[in-house]
Amino acid sequence: MLEKVKTSTPVLILLGPPGAGKGTQARILQTQFGLVQLSTGDLLRAAVTAGTEAGLAAKAVMDAGDLVSDEIVISILKDRLKDTDCAKGVILDGFPRTGAQAEALDELLAGSGQRINAAISLEVEDTNMVARISGRFTCGSCGEGYHDSFKPPKKDGVCDNCGGTDFKRRADDNAETVASRLNAYHAQTAPLIAHYEGQGTLKRIDAMGKIDFIAQELAAVVSEATT
Ligand code: ADP
Ligand code: ZN
Repeated sequence: MLEKVKTSTPVLILLGPPGAGKGTQARILQTQFGLVQLSTGDLLRAAVTAGTEAGLAAKAVMDAGDLVSDEIVISILKDRLKDTDCAKGVILDGFPRTGAQAEALDELLAGSGQRINAAISLEVEDTNMVARISGRFTCGSCGEGYHDSFKPPKKDGVCDNCGGTDFKRRADDNAETVASRLNAYHAQTAPLIAHYEGQGTLKRIDAMGKIDFIAQELAAVVSEATT
């Protein structure tokens, strides 16, 4: 499980609906604080591409905008946490998403003397999420995230970060699937905010503003939570 992770390893959770900017902010924190971004969405998409058993089971569920089973997601995350790079500290992006996942994480951490430094809720209004999500795309080479209106590449068609020219859009980033994903968030994930509030680890960030401004607010919260 977490044998290779030192007791002081920071563990941060990013909570928020699809489109709140969890992935964008996790990538910034990863660079700034030397932490590892663990996105269960990315891990699942990699499993789908690799055609593993878990990937085959997850694909239709993801295309419909529903949540993949706790069993699959927890097992994928546990496997990833065994990698030595996770000893630097992790930012969980898109996990936990259900009560059962939150409990599994609490148990996993308790078993190795770890704790959650902060569960950060990125607070946004649903009405803007469809626009945010339907315009987004990523660099196929380095994974940098972009948006048609809010964050286009500086030079059209060329990645600011790596110079790559191959971009991709996610199959589930269409208006219909986004509506299901928002429903799943409100029904199954939003209740976790109360769980972390009860634990005393919850921090709330207003995530409706500009990416850089939110990143600054987040950095202050993370500094405080990890020192
Ligand atoms: P977003 O947060 O923008 O919806 P993600 O990349 O985090 O995007 O997730 C995409 C899809 O992957 C989800 O709609 C869901 O089907 C699946 N998924 C990701 N993380 C989890 C999780 N922790 N539990 C269940 N399903 C998940
Ligand atoms: Zn790139």
